[in-house]
Amino acid sequence: MTKETKDFSKYFDFSGAKVISEDQSGKTIRLNGRDIHIVSEPDYRQEKQRGKEEIQVHYENAVPDELKSLGLGKKYLIYTYGCQMNEHDTEVMRGLFEEMGYTATEDRMEAAVILYNTCAVRENAEDKVFGELGHMKVLKQQRPELILGVCGCMSQEASVVNRIMQKHAHVDMIFGTHNIHRLPYLLQEAHFGKEMVIDVWSKEGDIIENLPKKRTDGLRAWVNIMYGCDKFCTYCIVPYTRGKERSRLPEDVIAEVRDLARQGFKEITLLGQNVNAYGKDFTDRSYRFGDLMGDIQKIDIPRIRFTTSHPRDFDEHLIEVLAKGGNLVEHIHLPVQSGSTEVLKRMSRKYTRERYLELAERIRNEIPNATLTTDVIVGFPGETEEQFEETLTLMREAGITSAYTYIYSPREGTPAFDMADDVPIEVKQKRLARLNALVSELSLKHHQELVGQVIEVMVEGESKNKASVMSGRSRTNKLIHFEGKTEWIGQLVQVRVTAAQTWYVKAEVISEPAVASNAG
Ligand code: SF4
Repeated sequence: MTKETKDFSKYFDFSGAKVISEDQSGKTIRLNGRDIHIVSEPDYRQEKQRGKEEIQVHYENAVPDELKSLGLGKKYLIYTYGCQMNEHDTEVMRGLFEEMGYTATEDRMEAAVILYNTCAVRENAEDKVFGELGHMKVLKQQRPELILGVCGCMSQEASVVNRIMQKHAHVDMIFGTHNIHRLPYLLQEAHFGKEMVIDVWSKEGDIIENLPKKRTDGLRAWVNIMYGCDKFCTYCIVPYTRGKERSRLPEDVIAEVRDLARQGFKEITLLGQNVNAYGKDFTDRSYRFGDLMGDIQKIDIPRIRFTTSHPRDFDEHLIEVLAKGGNLVEHIHLPVQSGSTEVLKRMSRKYTRERYLELAERIRNEIPNATLTTDVIVGFPGETEEQFEETLTLMREAGITSAYTYIYSPREGTPAFDMADDVPIEVKQKRLARLNALVSELSLKHHQELVGQVIEVMVEGESKNKASVMSGRSRTNKLIHFEGKTEWIGQLVQVRVTAAQTWYVKAEVISEPAVASNAG
């Protein structure tokens, strides 16, 4: 039976598509000569909803026995865009691939599967991926057996999935941020089927524990403490692509950190779109981020970091716990986005300039040596010269030492997308340049204040420019270069800062790590 598809879903343009079949497993259509099996497609309305249903935690093994040999003799390649959450999702997907027998490659000519783990936060990130998919068409013609997949935040956008179906029919599978654990089944279908498979969940699922992870760096590890975000800042696509805030159980987080400490990892970064909201969704206990940090502080591991914070949920209890120090390092990344209360209101950030400055001061007063870094957006709709000036003055007053800076990028589906994007691009670019000049100045000034100080550095590796020069980071996440030895990698050394550069400082070692001498 063939039927016009107009009524399929208004988010998708299926003009010219034919429905081939429709059953429990979804629908199969033929579009531009390619059969497409749609298990589920992204639905913006559902992504916007925040249900009250209880989040379940599943402790399952994601790779069934019958798929453990699917990848024997085959290689995989994952391109990752965007934030640490995406990097960590890639670690999980690497773990799944390797449990299926695949091995990693950086060479697209020998890969059996190539995955794009995408970011939707800014337009240029999306343009990059579409550019890549265009190039991939040629490779697919040369190697039709290659499996090409798109996942991550872009896959959660209906307009993106539609564009791939219409223009990139050589893509074999599209899945989202909520069903990474389904990768083995999607690969199985892609391997044995000729159809493009689309399986994007618009309703965030439960929390899947015990997923394998393949971490490439044996020194530092990311640990998710929560997923999603309910803040709905007006410019941000994340609440739609990552779903509602849901916290992992503290016992699971603590067990993972303990296990990583046993494996010899030296630094853990606790991850979440907004870690300060940790525990707000628990119904059976009153246990928040400060409590978790207090418990993790007791684990024998040199350094604990966390990102990303939101000023709205940054509470007194957390400040008290962080003030105890120990392995809880003194670097706090606290995105402000704008220094103008008016602009913050239009962004729906739900705090004022004054509240941010007050919080920054409390953090710097209560937590010894605390350093603050931030995120800033310039050129948000309606931003006046005076309001931009307020951002510059706030950076100084809050004692910001460095920042990630962005030009506002309208995201379809976000409330800000409907606001008049009335700041001319030249003005946006000029403001970004002025802001970046200030960030360079503040970074250099902070590094100059470190000259002569003795600080602890975690040795991370050789500096990019000179083999004998090692590089590492201070507890406050500042980059340090110093003469040293590769066998010190992973060790803590005491250095005295000798010179300041804009983006790093030079130092001399004043006490070598104990272990190294044994090696010597
Ligand atoms: S806090 Fe705001 S900017 Fe951050 S992920 Fe959530 S909605 Fe986006």
